[in-house]
Amino acid sequence: MKGKSVCVVCRQEKKGERIEDDIYIETVRNIKRKLGIVQNNVLVVCKDCTQKAEEKRRRFERTLMTWSILAALVFVVFLFMSFSLNSILLGLVAAFFFILFAMTSYFPKVEKHGKERRTAR
Ligand SMILES: [Zn+2]
Repeated sequence: MKGKSVCVVCRQEKKGERIEDDIYIETVRNIKRKLGIVQNNVLVVCKDCTQKAEEKRRRFERTLMTWSILAALVFVVFLFMSFSLNSILLGLVAAFFFILFAMTSYFPKVEKHGKERRTAR
């Protein structure tokens, strides 16, 4: 049975465009299922929040990009400092936390139903 449709921006029970399932949402859902707190809500973005959602998504993509580059740099720096198993592990852990930090600003993507809007600016 499907649950309520809830807007991810204003958190209200509204109809709207569905958001895309991605690895993050799948992971959260799996964890919730294991904990038995899965709500079965359909996550949407309502009409009033579409623009806000797009801005938030863009901001998240930028953040993720920046932190991924930083994570890669940190990893390389660790390798250069000393090429040992320890520094590889340390580099990986540091990189992992960088990505984790970027994920705190996570925002899902809104489904476009195949009609990609390409507005020239
Ligand atoms: Zn909304």
